[in-house]
Amino acid sequence: MTSFEDFSLSRRVQQSIDEMGFEEPSPIQAACIPIVLSGSDAIGQAQTGTGKTAAFGIPIVERATPDKHVQALVLTPTRELAIQVAGEFRKIGKYKRVRTLPIYGGQSIGHQIRALQQGVQVVIGTPGRVLDHLRRGTLKLSHVKTVVLDEADEMLDMGFIEDIESILKETPDERQTLLFSATFPSEVKRLSGRYMKSPQHVTVNRGEMTVPLIDQVYYKVLERSKLDSLCRVVDSEEVQLGIIFCRTKRGVDELVEALLARGYLGDGLHGDLSQAQRDRVMKKFRDNDIELLVATDVAARGIDVENVTHVINYDIPQDPESYVHRIGRTGRAGKRGLAITLVTPREFKLLKQIERETHAKMMVREVPSLEDVAERQAEGWRNRIVEAIQSGGLGHYRAILGNIIDDHDPIDVACAALKLASAGELENQSDVDYDFGDTGATPGMVRFFVNVGRSARISPADLVRTISEEAGVPGQSVGKIDIFDRFTFVEIEQESAPFVYEALRQSRINGARVNMEPAKPRTRTR
Ligand code: AMP
Repeated sequence: MTSFEDFSLSRRVQQSIDEMGFEEPSPIQAACIPIVLSGSDAIGQAQTGTGKTAAFGIPIVERATPDKHVQALVLTPTRELAIQVAGEFRKIGKYKRVRTLPIYGGQSIGHQIRALQQGVQVVIGTPGRVLDHLRRGTLKLSHVKTVVLDEADEMLDMGFIEDIESILKETPDERQTLLFSATFPSEVKRLSGRYMKSPQHVTVNRGEMTVPLIDQVYYKVLERSKLDSLCRVVDSEEVQLGIIFCRTKRGVDELVEALLARGYLGDGLHGDLSQAQRDRVMKKFRDNDIELLVATDVAARGIDVENVTHVINYDIPQDPESYVHRIGRTGRAGKRGLAITLVTPREFKLLKQIERETHAKMMVREVPSLEDVAERQAEGWRNRIVEAIQSGGLGHYRAILGNIIDDHDPIDVACAALKLASAGELENQSDVDYDFGDTGATPGMVRFFVNVGRSARISPADLVRTISEEAGVPGQSVGKIDIFDRFTFVEIEQESAPFVYEALRQSRINGARVNMEPAKPRTRTR
């Protein structure tokens, strides 16, 4: 087992990692960080969600010098990824004060030029815009020590090969080149063959894994309403003792706080707690004083509790092995257990990889609607009231009510008592889903505008396939498709629309860069 301390990172970088709440390196990081620190070229096979960004971000920041010229260049296929990677670099470089800048098309070039003039050490950009700056002379790569090709397969799919080659030619020959890709088609191999020097290959260990006999389900959730979805899932299950997994220590603290605020009995466990604190939390969990234990992978490793009825992956595990470890916390001693994984549209491919490699059978479930949850809660209260009547001993309360019945309708009295007793639990709740408004769609559907059409050789079949693969929704959810020369309208069933929107609003179809927006009603084409 590796720890971040094993890499002997400088104090300031280690401090950032601690603050980000990472407890231990993910498998891709454990393998990659020493190689990158040593200066070798590396090829990493990794999906989003595995921690690949920090796998190159940590060593690049560690090796950065105070000189104010571009030392590392990261190329990404999309602007969204550039922004995300830049955000991760900013966190890693916070105490070392490494200056990073994302540069991508669509943002004012003047702003980027001014920022570059101030001296930037790490540039994260999309190939087109990076090339643009090189041609204008506003970006100089002559001092670059490391180049990262992130999601190389995607970049090549999008037709960026020539741009990438032109950019690489502007960097010193003795540079370090890192390439990350989920897949390795021949074009990616050719690129690495031509531009990399004896790269070391990093694939995360894929031993055969045996998954304990546990029912496994997953829920597709939206990033922006993940907490709400978790609560609904918990409310719809008979959770007696559940462990909820988060990726970071910080994530644990935040989730515990949010759950307590919503009235759940929970507590958290992570590596920053002292042994005494840990023991206290574990005692509460064993004594059933709390029903939900929120934990990081590391913290949960040491615990041994029977009777865990549910394991919930609030954050998807970073690799198949950790999935197997996590879910093995339930279903012990021949008891039944349920493993639940929440997956956001962006993580869907990682879930599929976990499913493949663990040979797991995960059934998809729908997050219960507010009505379902409300009905279950209402039924719970009705049962409790009936039980209270049957178990008697109400005389004391009758005396407290006094002659209130003379002046008020008994039903009103019962309703008021229920309102007070339920303390807000039964109030109307509002949904936090996307509201696409009127998109001019057929009833029950949401109509989207997609900025590619016939000229990008898009066919209805491509569209349906991409939508179902990327967003994990069935092809039947896709309705009417109108393809024009330069754009397309596509209708998606209302329930699936938010997933399709989160997964596809910035992606690619057939290599073409795609932007997807809810359509406006006046653009109706019929
Ligand atoms: P990535 O695969 O780079 O997109 O990372 C996915 C998420 O995992 C990001 O939110 C990272 O901040 C987080 N992450 C990366 N490394 C670790 C780690 N060692 N422990 C916990 N979380 C991590």
